[in-house]
Formats: sequence, structure tokens, C-alpha cells
Amino acid sequence: MSETEKVYQELNTTISAAEAQLIAVSKTHPQERIMELYELGHRDFGENRVAELVEKHEALPKDIRWHFIGHLQRNKVKAIAPFVHLIHAVDSERLLREIDKQAKAADRKISVLLQFHIAEEASKYGLDREKAGALITSLKEKPLTHTTISGVMGMATFTDDEAQVTAEFESLAEHFKWIQGTIPGQSPEFREISMGMSGDYPLALAAGSTLVRVGSLLFGQRYT
Ligand SMILES: *Cc1c(COP(=O)(O)O)cnc(C)c1O
Repeated sequence: MSETEKVYQELNTTISAAEAQLIAVSKTHPQERIMELYELGHRDFGENRVAELVEKHEALPKDIRWHFIGHLQRNKVKAIAPFVHLIHAVDSERLLREIDKQAKAADRKISVLLQFHIAEEASKYGLDREKAGALITSLKEKPLTHTTISGVMGMATFTDDEAQVTAEFESLAEHFKWIQGTIPGQSPEFREISMGMSGDYPLALAAGSTLVRVGSLLFGQRYT
């Protein structure tokens, strides 16, 4: 068994036991590394650059489910709309409306997650309750037609302080429950909490994560 396979099998066992799913974050890694996991039956991969995602999608098997996990610019939605499986980090109405428009143009439905800012670090990205509340109100007034809001996503502070990371993941789980009570008609599909990476996924699973995004633990260090 290769080292990658060993790590993959162990990780999958832990994640399945918690009733969550693994997104293998393959950004910067070559297509052969993706195929190594594909041959083991893995289908969910995450990327954070549009050009790289489009190139990999074109070259690799079409039953791969591609997750866009990075910050997405509005002018790049069109390039991934025909095939993307789940867009993890939506934090503005303008982006959401553009996704809806491009999903319609591509004649399909796209699932997205609302990104919340849960870390201590200052960041331009991610909603707070106030912004999320305004977004949801606006969606009630003018519903999306080709986009499904499937849950929430967040990133914890990069720190060794496990209590802090746990508190941040728990805050995301609370945002999830809060939205669940406010989105009309979306409740069956609104079910994902995307949280946890190589360094903190056990804490994320304990806090109720349903999708963990693991890169370096599976594929090794990134050099770019
Ligand atoms: C790169 C990345 C990951 C994976 O990070 P690792 O620490 O390598 O597991 C997860 N989520 C997002 C949003 C990322 O950009």
C-alpha cells in the first residue's frame, strides 16, 4: 500500500465514522496525484483557482465532483458554471446572483455554501449574522431560480489553541442552525457544514462538520 493510500484510508475511516465526507484538496498538485485517489474510488476534489480547476476538469474523468473552495470572482463564475459541483465560499449577494445567472445560462442547478467569518484574524471574506440576515431577506424578496444554498462554510484561526478553534467551529454550527430556521423551503437541501482542514479536522468533526477539506495531509506540502 502506498503512503498516500494508507493516509487516505485512515482519514476516510475517521471521517465516515463521524458521518462526514472528505473533500481532497488537490490545488497546486499534478493530475497524477488526483488520479491516484480516483483509482481508489475517491470522487470529491477541491480547488481554489479557476484556471487550474478548468484545466483539470477538462483533462480528468467527468465523474469527478469538483468543489470550488476559494474566493471566487464574479467575472470567473461563467468558466466553472457548466460543471462545478459545489461552490464553498459565497459571501455576497452579488456573487450569488451571478452564480444564479450563470447556472441558468448553463441550464443546470448549482449548489453553494455561505461563507462565515469565524476566525479571529481580520479577513475581507465571510459573512457575519447581520450580513447573512440581510442576504436571506433579499432572497425571500427575490428568490434564486438555479442556485441551491446547501449550507455554510468557515475557516478557523490558524493556532495551536484547540479551545479557540473548537469555539470557532461551534460558532459556525450555530450559524448553520440559525439559518436553517430562516431559509424558507430550502431546509431539506440545507444540510452541509464545511469546516476542518489538515491541521484541525478532528476538532471540526467533533463540532459537527459534514465536509472536511483536507489537502497537505493527503498530498504533502504545497510549494506554490
Ligand atoms: C488549501 C485549503 C484547504 C486545505 O488546506 P490543508 O491545510 O492543506 O489541508 C482547505 N480549505 C481551503 C479553503 C483551502 O484554501
